Amino acid sequence: MARYTGSVCRLCRRENQKLFLKGDRCFTEKCSFERRGYPPGQHGQGRIKFSEYGLQLREKQKIKRIYGLLEGQFRGLFEKASHMKGITGNHLVSMLERRLDNVVYRSGFANSRSEARQLVRHGHFHINGKLVNIPSYLIDKGDMVEVKESSRSTARIGGALESVKRREIPQWLELDTNAFKARVRDLPVRDDVTAQMNERMVVELYSK
Ligand code: SF4
Repeated sequence: MARYTGSVCRLCRRENQKLFLKGDRCFTEKCSFERRGYPPGQHGQGRIKFSEYGLQLREKQKIKRIYGLLEGQFRGLFEKASHMKGITGNHLVSMLERRLDNVVYRSGFANSRSEARQLVRHGHFHINGKLVNIPSYLIDKGDMVEVKESSRSTARIGGALESVKRREIPQWLELDTNAFKARVRDLPVRDDVTAQMNERMVVELYSK
């Protein structure tokens, strides 16, 4: 599958916001955004004025980048959200949060969503006792996400759990560090997501 292979710190600078794509490094002074908090490129330090369309486009790109999705995957989730009853933007954010790679990251089993995606693909997680290696799998209320027994000594998972204190585990997840398990207490809602994002602009963009 195609994936972005360029500098991820550049993405934060482009979106003018810390997107926390590099795990522990994001919390240190090595963070590129802390050192150069302006857009990359020759005109990065000049004034950039966006049109309404430009602002909507940037917001969509930012949300895609936070969750590490490509256009097709993101658009697919939006289509699903737009066919659900209620507020499309809220459904979109909820589905992004329910992706297995995000749940693994949010639970503290990985330092970043990209690391979580790789761990899921490599088959390190069970859901309700069954191996699931599909990062886009959407978890449900009551599901139990568990590190496979033979994977519990994996250095990356252990390391991530060590540094989990740096991040807040969301209320909708219940982490049992000793048992390498996280239970989905409830489905995530819009208010559970603290990252700065304006999903309404994405809805407006796609509705044009
Ligand atoms: Fe973004 Fe993290 Fe890189 Fe800082 S270290 S620029 S937050 S990805």
